[in-house]
Amino acid sequence: MIQMQKRIEKRFTACFALLTLALTLLFVFVPDIHRVSLSAGDTGVATYSVMDLIRSRDELYQVDAVKKEESHQLRLTLPRDVDPADITYTENVMDKRIEISIPGVSSSFFYDYPMVGSSDGIRELTFGYSAGVGILDITTTKIRLLDMHTEGSYVYLDFLDPHDVYDAIVVIDIGHGGKDAGADKQGVSEKNINLEMGKKLFSYCAKSKYNVGFYFTRLDDTFVELQDRVGLANEIKADLFLSIHNNSTASGRMSSINGAEVMYRVSDDSGGSKEFAAICLEEILDELGCDSKGLVAGDEIYIIRTSEAPVALAEIGFMTNENELKNLCNPEYQDRAAHALYKAIITTLKKNGGIK
Ligand SMILES: [Zn+2]
Repeated sequence: MIQMQKRIEKRFTACFALLTLALTLLFVFVPDIHRVSLSAGDTGVATYSVMDLIRSRDELYQVDAVKKEESHQLRLTLPRDVDPADITYTENVMDKRIEISIPGVSSSFFYDYPMVGSSDGIRELTFGYSAGVGILDITTTKIRLLDMHTEGSYVYLDFLDPHDVYDAIVVIDIGHGGKDAGADKQGVSEKNINLEMGKKLFSYCAKSKYNVGFYFTRLDDTFVELQDRVGLANEIKADLFLSIHNNSTASGRMSSINGAEVMYRVSDDSGGSKEFAAICLEEILDELGCDSKGLVAGDEIYIIRTSEAPVALAEIGFMTNENELKNLCNPEYQDRAAHALYKAIITTLKKNGGIK
């Protein structure tokens, strides 16, 4: 055991030494390196900015030769012997970050094979390298969807406006999270009930037959600032903004008060918020068979007041009611709540011409 550990340690040290050597060589031999900032993060991955390494097409080609590539924003060279299917990416919409994982590259890959295209709409572009896998980390100035495809020995990247891809866009906010537990009753945190319902709603959205872009403010136990929640909806110019919560009495004490209520923005002159909230409430009552606490003006709530999209904040049930709390913790009940919200979204979008 001990010997094996030592061997692994040795290999680790060797890898790290090689990486350091590679970076040192890079530093010495590559021109313009003074513009590159190197920093090793917590993961031991060395990263540097590659913004300045993008070559414009004019710089590299005769005008005629680039014509057929002009429509793509960035062109990368496909690393030798790499299957295009092994190049994967993740999108983090809250940070406007796209991470592309590229195997089979060296740390100097983008010096050896410069990207061709334009940095329009890109705030930062860094390249991280660790043990033969490169991570191209792209931060865009606006929320964008990556369109990546391979043709011959090149990989083409385009950054699309979600509104050009989807017929409608819905932002779904799963209330509370992380250090903010929301209501806490009988050992149950509101943030967890909201998350379970939200994840079930995510499943319905994922298999939706409609061309709708669904964006979630969280899908795990993460703390998200209120400004970032409503900020996502406003920035992406959502057609609808839905927030999922669960209720408790003002005193916080257990009581007989129960039922669903949905908040809306009174100051929304279009009436879209109230209409969306009404449809949510109707679907919830229909699906859960619970009591109604009605529609409630919610302008004192930050994310409601500041939402530019028609907003509804659904309080599915009261955690301060013994019976309802039991229901809210039941996965089957949570699933029906999620289905009600999904139907409400689709019904509202159909009504307002967002989808057919
Ligand atoms: Zn809440």
